[in-house]
Amino acid sequence: MPAWAEVPAADRYWLKSARVPACFLAASLAAPADEDGALLLDLLVENGTIGAIAPAGAAAGSSTPVFDLGGRQLWPTLIDMHTHIDKGHVLPRTPNRDGSFAGAREGSSGDRKAYWSHEDIRRRMDFALRCAYVHGVSAIRTHLESHEGSAEAGWAVFRELREAWSSRIALQAVSLVPIDAFAGDYGERLADLVAASGGVLGAVTRASGGVHRGMVEDLDALLDILFRLAAERGLDLDLHVDESGDVEAAALPRIADAVLRHRFTGSVVCGHCCSLALQPDDVAAAVIARCADSGIAIVTLPTVNMYLQDRAGGRTPRWRGVTPIKELRAAGVPVAIGGDNCRDPFHAYGDHDMVDTFQQAVRIGHLDHPFADAPAMAGPIPSAIIGAGPIGTIAKGTPARFILFRARSLNELVCRPQSDRVVIDRGQVVTDALPDYAELDDLVAQRI
Ligand SMILES: [Zn+2]
Repeated sequence: MPAWAEVPAADRYWLKSARVPACFLAASLAAPADEDGALLLDLLVENGTIGAIAPAGAAAGSSTPVFDLGGRQLWPTLIDMHTHIDKGHVLPRTPNRDGSFAGAREGSSGDRKAYWSHEDIRRRMDFALRCAYVHGVSAIRTHLESHEGSAEAGWAVFRELREAWSSRIALQAVSLVPIDAFAGDYGERLADLVAASGGVLGAVTRASGGVHRGMVEDLDALLDILFRLAAERGLDLDLHVDESGDVEAAALPRIADAVLRHRFTGSVVCGHCCSLALQPDDVAAAVIARCADSGIAIVTLPTVNMYLQDRAGGRTPRWRGVTPIKELRAAGVPVAIGGDNCRDPFHAYGDHDMVDTFQQAVRIGHLDHPFADAPAMAGPIPSAIIGAGPIGTIAKGTPARFILFRARSLNELVCRPQSDRVVIDRGQVVTDALPDYAELDDLVAQRI
């Protein structure tokens, strides 16, 4: 632990002079905000929960042990609401041959068919969860490959790890199949598997074998099946949508229409929505308004969009690939940031670190000048979207889960990797180390 963060090993202690972005607080507090919108607070930790939150000064004169943060940043642990931890950490076994979306789909599909056993999936998913936990992530929603004939393997691992990790990370899962998989009777069986596993129903709005270019045939009819299956079982929906620059094949407005047509009362999340950024302003504004009317939430995956979108051999990319975050938020649409793929053919990089994802999102999406409530997109906003309870927020009486940073301002926080952050889980400092890549060598040594 860095010398600046000698957190008392006690059941009851004060974290004094913590600088907390106001957007993380579940209840507003009368305290002056700095230029980042952060408040200087004292927080009492007792028996693993937050016993008090008060303007700085409350801890003065207390006989309880005090750790003085000296105005450094204190955040809640964060939420990664869109990942693919069943696919991850297959490098160098299966790289993307050229970095393209087609290369990603082919590589990932080949890896699944060649190597995925219960043990292979379990070890890679567990590796991902250990990375996330050390970085200060307390809730993860992962999509799971759910093709006919092989879906049960991933869902079985998910159920096992959800239980094993339940005290450290709240794990949710979503089915991932091309939407035309719902055309036959498999859709019904998959929806049953998802319901029996306590999952979320999902699909990608492209046809089997497609790369988001061109509209899926009968998309509205397929959406009708999906919404019906979800409604019948009381399931929420989470879809991969418009992950391309093709403005002719926009599924997002069709999904908004389906929500309204079905009077769907569950939660509906649309991930990516890249091509919305390339629509003419008036078209984008109309689609955004429809999203707001239908109550859809959006999750943007900036690091993976930067990696896959506008990639062509020998050509430098010209656009960022991310959805219009600011315009959506201005219209009242909840927008969260997610990490998406990690060390697999869809994204060669990443470490399940939502602080890193936030830092990159700030730069890619200009979520600064001012930062305003941008940090909320990794905490309270995804928490509300996926129903993660108090995780991602700071509230009296809830588990004391924090990330302590050496940084005092958001500028300092975004500039450095924050490798010396201290994660606190239910009042105790997390001392686990990041897992070593070498642990997976026997699994993913180059074999293709
Ligand atoms: Zn994804």
